[in-house]
Amino acid sequence: MNIHEYQAKELLEKFDVATPRGKVASTPEEVEQVARELGDVDLATGRVRPIGGLVVKAQIHAGGRGKGTFTNGFKGGVHVVKSVKEAGEVASKMLGQTLVTHQTGPGGRVVNKVLVVESAEIAREIYLAILLDRTTAAPLIVASTEGGVEIETVAAKSPDKIVRERIDPLAGLQPFQTRKLAKQLAFEQSQTKAAAKLFDGLYRTFIGCDCSMVEINPLVVTAKGEVLALDAKFNFDDNALYRHPEIAAMRDIAEEDPREVEASKHGLNYIGLDGNIACLVNGAGLAMATMDIIKFYGGSPANFLDVGGGATEEQVTEAFKILIADKNVKAILVNIFGGIMRCDVIAQGIINAAKTVKLSVPLVVRLEGTNVDAGKELITESGLAVIAADDLADAAQKVVKAADSKTQNPNPKQHSANPKIQNPTSKQYSK
Ligand code: GDP
Ligand code: MN
Repeated sequence: MNIHEYQAKELLEKFDVATPRGKVASTPEEVEQVARELGDVDLATGRVRPIGGLVVKAQIHAGGRGKGTFTNGFKGGVHVVKSVKEAGEVASKMLGQTLVTHQTGPGGRVVNKVLVVESAEIAREIYLAILLDRTTAAPLIVASTEGGVEIETVAAKSPDKIVRERIDPLAGLQPFQTRKLAKQLAFEQSQTKAAAKLFDGLYRTFIGCDCSMVEINPLVVTAKGEVLALDAKFNFDDNALYRHPEIAAMRDIAEEDPREVEASKHGLNYIGLDGNIACLVNGAGLAMATMDIIKFYGGSPANFLDVGGGATEEQVTEAFKILIADKNVKAILVNIFGGIMRCDVIAQGIINAAKTVKLSVPLVVRLEGTNVDAGKELITESGLAVIAADDLADAAQKVVKAADSKTQNPNPKQHSANPKIQNPTSKQYSK
């Protein structure tokens, strides 16, 4: 799960990590109100003094906002403003608008909130992240003096500028490590205490919130020598979310893939992907193998979907509806190895779904295992146009071929249920 920057700021504050003063707002009026509260406003001119202005920041679940562009032509999702009025004006160009950054994809994200913060007088920008490192099975701090830019760029161009510090999960982040990091990141003697406090707070946030990643980019040193987390990105371990209802409540489904939101309502293990072959499979291992073999035969999966061992007819129906409603889908592959899951339950689910939503793409089915004959019989009796497959390889080849010959969706109107998953030719782009 992801959260917004303003929510990340709340969590960081709980763990005593220094962030700029600020508040979130949803309307230009609210923005002006917040700007008035934050800024030491000169009533005569309406200008904010003496703090060098405020920053208005678009809140979306994606980075690169500073360099992003709104589809209305307005440049930049992060703006330094000098007056209350200007804060309101900038906000009105952001709110309700779509911001496209290199992380959002061409569809962009709608900005529903902006964060207004005191502008920091930046002397230096640092990159710092804590993540789970699989090779050492421990938290790892990744940092660089080259902050404010993409860490991927730093890694590619000057890998020597990236420092890594493994943290022993039992001992936690040790003082000698924070000192070492402060030195490697070129903090001055007078700043090491503040830096160490921030590293320590970040680590406690990471552990305390069951994060899989906390990324601060940039972490800044101000002209006065303060050390602040200016931007934050969090990823949480979804399996630990039950321990943090207050974090789970921060979920913003407007930011999520609507296919995944729908799937999660029905307890399905679904992950949306960019390809055009929808997969309905039981078991995570078989689902992975199915995606692999689709790739192997030159196709591209539209999703990962594991209906699991205990799926009900209703769950299968809902799963199938999600697959049909995805307008990128050009063919569907059902690959079931019936063990605990019964083939007839899957078959009935498919038939139910096809009754409510017209099946307009080719459907390849490979059933094997428990109640396979009953399942096949149900499908035959239903009169559904099904391409039967004998084994996994056969199924994959057939579905890749079916998706290939199906370049045009015959019934596009019916598939407009997912506004966010649109192709770049949708009306948003033909100005
Ligand atoms: P991102 O583009 O989505 O990563 O958003 P950031 O919050 O990282 O902001 C992008 C850039 O805007 C930062 O790297 C800074 O250079 C600049 N910026 C952000 N906040 C401030 C601020 O308080 N003062 C100044 N002067 N620049 C800022
Ligand atoms: Mn950033």
